[in-house]
Amino acid sequence: DEGSEVAFAGRSNAGKSSAINCLTGNKKLARISKTPGRTQLLNFFSLSEGRRLVDLPGYGYAKVPDKVKKDWGRLVENYLQHRRSLRGLILLVDCRHPLQPFDHKMLSWAAAVGMPTHILLTKSDKLKRGAARKALLFASDEIKVYGGLISVQLFSSEKNIGYPEVVDTINYWLTPCDTN
Ligand code: GDP
Repeated sequence: DEGSEVAFAGRSNAGKSSAINCLTGNKKLARISKTPGRTQLLNFFSLSEGRRLVDLPGYGYAKVPDKVKKDWGRLVENYLQHRRSLRGLILLVDCRHPLQPFDHKMLSWAAAVGMPTHILLTKSDKLKRGAARKALLFASDEIKVYGGLISVQLFSSEKNIGYPEVVDTINYWLTPCDTN
């Protein structure tokens, strides 16, 4: 638990694997996370010495048994609560189904512990420009209650929408700060 890392979280099917592929330019990475047996694990991807992306298991698999859901909760909660090198969270949310109860749970936690969180409203290519803008305004309004550490943007891995913004955010979080 040294260096800096940014964790990716989201409901299954929100577009997390596609976003990680798109951001790293490496199609193999998220395939690794989707390998059966690894979907319930934390997958760590090293960017450079001491800088990592962490793919958290997708939540909201309707079909998994309660026991697995509980284990998922324990694994992720334990990681989120104790990981010292965690600098920020990227929360992936399908722009057509913004901020479901579990997303709010994550945001409440992030706000409570002061964890910077950047929401990607994914698959924004699926909405017309006006509707996408509306979804962004709606989400921007909804996150106001959580304070200034939560931000949101439109994103599409398919059409490369919002790429520079999220890369800047991640790079900013992963830049070592002088703690002396
Ligand atoms: P994950 O379960 O969160 O890792 O989601 P995936 O990345 O596997 O994506 C779920 C589905 O959404 C797949 O069929 C993807 O092809 C599709 N998808 C992901 N990102 C985009 C996007 O930006 N635009 C569109 N149109 N489809 C996307």
